Amino acid sequence: MSLIMQNTKPHAAILASPGMGHLIPVIELGKRLVTHHGFHVTIFVVSTDSSSSAQTQLLNSPNLNFLDIISLPLVDITGLVDPAASIVTKIIVMMRESLAGLRSTIFSMEYRPTVLIADLFGTEALTIADEFEMLKYVFIASNAWFLAITIYVPTLDKRVEDEHINGQKPLKIPGCEPVRFDDTLDAYLDRTDQVYEEYIRIGREICMADGILLNTWEDLEPKTFEALRDQNLLGRVTRVPVYPIGPLARQIGPPVLDNQVLNWLDVQPSESVIYVSFGSGGTLSAEQTIELAYGLELSRQRFIWVLRPPVDKDVSGSFFNAGNGPDGSASFLPDGFMTRTKKLGRIVHMWAQQVEILAHPAVGGFLSHCGWNSTLESILNGVPMITWPLYAEQKMNATLLSEDLGLAVRPLARPDGVVRREEISKMVRRIMVDKEGYVIRKRMKEAKGKALEAVSKGGSSDESLSRVAEDCVISLQ
Ligand code: UDP
Repeated sequence: MSLIMQNTKPHAAILASPGMGHLIPVIELGKRLVTHHGFHVTIFVVSTDSSSSAQTQLLNSPNLNFLDIISLPLVDITGLVDPAASIVTKIIVMMRESLAGLRSTIFSMEYRPTVLIADLFGTEALTIADEFEMLKYVFIASNAWFLAITIYVPTLDKRVEDEHINGQKPLKIPGCEPVRFDDTLDAYLDRTDQVYEEYIRIGREICMADGILLNTWEDLEPKTFEALRDQNLLGRVTRVPVYPIGPLARQIGPPVLDNQVLNWLDVQPSESVIYVSFGSGGTLSAEQTIELAYGLELSRQRFIWVLRPPVDKDVSGSFFNAGNGPDGSASFLPDGFMTRTKKLGRIVHMWAQQVEILAHPAVGGFLSHCGWNSTLESILNGVPMITWPLYAEQKMNATLLSEDLGLAVRPLARPDGVVRREEISKMVRRIMVDKEGYVIRKRMKEAKGKALEAVSKGGSSDESLSRVAEDCVISLQ
């Protein structure tokens, strides 16, 4: 790479945590930096031995030719982490063990990066940026509420923490609606779990960056941004600029030929289908899967359901052979489900073309686990939501969507956590049929308009990222 290029063009190294939920927004950020701000971008991916085929496909897609993508060597974390530890703990340890590879790769690069952007679980890499005198940013592929809680909890005195964690009182975070104990980021619920200490550390490290990039936009969470900048509130903790640069989300790709689900959607009435998906890895219990199946059937609404085998049932591969039920249903679905719902719905095994589905005019609702990428994709397509959070910050996202923004409805679970079929049917009808659904849809479409405005030329998020880009150019001089 020529010296001239080194001196004139910022080169961002973006470190992505494992998992599609991290990789997708990191790639979108990389694309945006290249196409709108003239950066050279290298994405560092932490390899795992369970990287999915969807991930391999994404990383090899020809339309990413303008990004350099480097897979860091596979690290073995056996012996370093309790096999029963949470997936987040494992990811954090994997990220830590990948740092040596990141350092040596950057060291050996002829055209060395000038900026490091670490995603949430990679904040320990900020010290590498210091070693190489690079600017350093943290990219949080989530919202301002998430940032608020992550930097706020480490500052809590013991009394407040006891009230929330032991007393199970709602947590009042400046700029956010009170978050019920059950809806708090689950890493904070058990102080004896390693993930608690890791999150406290991350909360502190985030504030040591030169800036914090968030995949949200000013208009969506104005009160939270105000609190994040107020020196008497959260601004005292962050101390560094916070840049809302979203929504950065995947766009539909080239037309997908012979996709049975998309073909089926083509012949359904406008906004008549509810899409059901729990993200890249979410699964339900066997009992909940049955209730969901009956709930969809009871609602009498068209559906597409991305189905995975239940977590608590050994399905020994029969699922992948279209199931062993008498009508070809997977063994963990109610008997005859596929036959009865043949006209009404489609089941997708494991992985769907989510963005294409949500962008289809026949889709009118999204029952979602509320991962932030899925949430953004729903907003960007003006599709109202039913929130069904499972883990991580998804319950906070559900609170934000249903109680603060009014873009979703939230089902009530029984005390044992199972949502009954009648409740599911009611929720589906609330957003697909009832007048309330019409109002939520209208609000969702307004949110879509504002989201698109934010990332368009001169919009608040576009300007925000331009400020980061300017700082990166200045740092070259
Ligand atoms: N996704 C997809 N097909 C699927 C499931 C997920 O394309 O069947 C994509 C989805 O569009 C989103 C990402 O995977 O971009 C999931 O990210 P999210 O933050 O919603 O949830 P996570 O998987 O991290 O829990």
